[in-house]
Amino acid sequence: MPQTPPLMEHPAAGSTPFDPVVAARLFDLSEIADGISLQLREKERQLFWNGRINDTDFSLIIDLSGAAGHTSPEQIAVAAKLFWYCYPQMYARFGLPDTPTHVTLRIEDFGYGIAEAWDDQVHIHDCWLMENPTDFDCLTHEFAHTVQGDWQDGYMPIHEEDTYMVERFADYCRYLYAFENGRYNDTGWELQTPEGEGNPFDAVRFWVWLDYTYSTPDRDIIREMNCCIHQRTEAYNEAAWAPDGSAWQAVFAGTGAAGKDLFALWEEYLASGMAYLSSGVAKEGETAPLLQAFPLREAIRVRYADAIRYLNVK
Ligand SMILES: [Zn+2]
Repeated sequence: MPQTPPLMEHPAAGSTPFDPVVAARLFDLSEIADGISLQLREKERQLFWNGRINDTDFSLIIDLSGAAGHTSPEQIAVAAKLFWYCYPQMYARFGLPDTPTHVTLRIEDFGYGIAEAWDDQVHIHDCWLMENPTDFDCLTHEFAHTVQGDWQDGYMPIHEEDTYMVERFADYCRYLYAFENGRYNDTGWELQTPEGEGNPFDAVRFWVWLDYTYSTPDRDIIREMNCCIHQRTEAYNEAAWAPDGSAWQAVFAGTGAAGKDLFALWEEYLASGMAYLSSGVAKEGETAPLLQAFPLREAIRVRYADAIRYLNVK
């Protein structure tokens, strides 16, 4: 494989930060997903893609104005593909009228050392992928925060002052919507077993189990929870989200989880057979024991026939 020249190396004023040949080869996603077009915004040092997918306009800006070139052009291309692979699927399931469809990913050689999200913006440190070259799905987690939107204190689940569902939701999405079916994710990031995450407030895997076991095409527990939190009414205040509270019962209504509190469901989960199987693999392309026994990602795609139409990635 020929070495790709740097995408940009602090160009002098007036010069071009993007090598158009490199850009055309790496960043043209029209071959990957229909209808996505690329613009190089050289002055702003931005890559801009937009596309209309299943009647929704999405766009992604990758802003390199704060980057120093540590993230390779190939890694930037994977990050762009990941957005178009993951985001429309998550949007199809969790999108509300105020959910962003235009998202900016800032690759910055300053700020928080890993990645973070606010509003329609995501930051990843320019050194993170250089030092952790397969951790692309930290971006799936951040894009899930973007889809999740503005959960407000006082109107979301809380336990011992920890608004635990903010991060459980993002990691639930990271696992189920991982780029290319977990190609990178599953070699380096695993769902913990109850030995590592021993209660419903910490355990991402518990929420994966709960949704897989009890959600139906008509009653989606995770989507319903997100909708209820966004309502910000007294019916969904912090007290209502107690483990045996009325908010969870509203979310569980019409499913087999109705009438059960989080601790009773936790006991079911421990006995389920899903609690202890490894979700990790040694090499890219292998299928983890957990997925061999329980087709969790496939089940989401079957349940959301609509979402698959958003996903036009070849
Ligand atoms: Zn997070």
